[in-house]
Amino acid sequence: MGDLSKHFSKHEMWCNCGCRRGVPHPFLLTKLEFLRSLTAAAMYINTRNHRGGSCPEYNAKIGGSLGSYHIVRWDPIIRAELFLAVDFESAVKDPLELARIIEKMDLDIGGQGIYYTISRPGGRVIMKPGFMHWDFGRPKRKDGGRRKWIHFRYGNKTKYIWLPKNRGFLQYSHYQLVDLAVETMNRG
Ligand SMILES: [Zn+2]
Ligand SMILES: [Zn+2]
Repeated sequence: MGDLSKHFSKHEMWCNCGCRRGVPHPFLLTKLEFLRSLTAAAMYINTRNHRGGSCPEYNAKIGGSLGSYHIVRWDPIIRAELFLAVDFESAVKDPLELARIIEKMDLDIGGQGIYYTISRPGGRVIMKPGFMHWDFGRPKRKDGGRRKWIHFRYGNKTKYIWLPKNRGFLQYSHYQLVDLAVETMNRG
């Protein structure tokens, strides 16, 4: 039993710098708990390069954007420092699978990003699952599209692929993801 919800505790959510700031917005926590129960497998937040909340100082230090939903902000009604985004990985589900479950269950309010590290040693394509970013910030982009993206890291480069306006993760298979990875690496 966690001290925030059935499966989650504060220490998993705090900023990585050790300042112990930040709890997820109750709305975000509820959805997270729902997803955790649905997948029935451990979920890891704030480990390695994932994040729960970040204090503004730490966010700046790691080069996070100024408008990041991971940044903790004082909420005058709940009277706590809250954040609106979590990065997590599941013990059994790949990021694409998690994104598909969220979409299928109609939990996709805000932004969703899936993160992979890709490489091609000796011509063989390797896709290493990273984590999934989930936030309850602004639901749409300026062009009206939803904020859904695929993020590839390869060598020292990174690439964001925004999903087209009317396309979700349910329209992507793992094979298409691999194709996108190959395309990304071919372009350099
Ligand atoms: Zn901090
Ligand atoms: Zn994130």
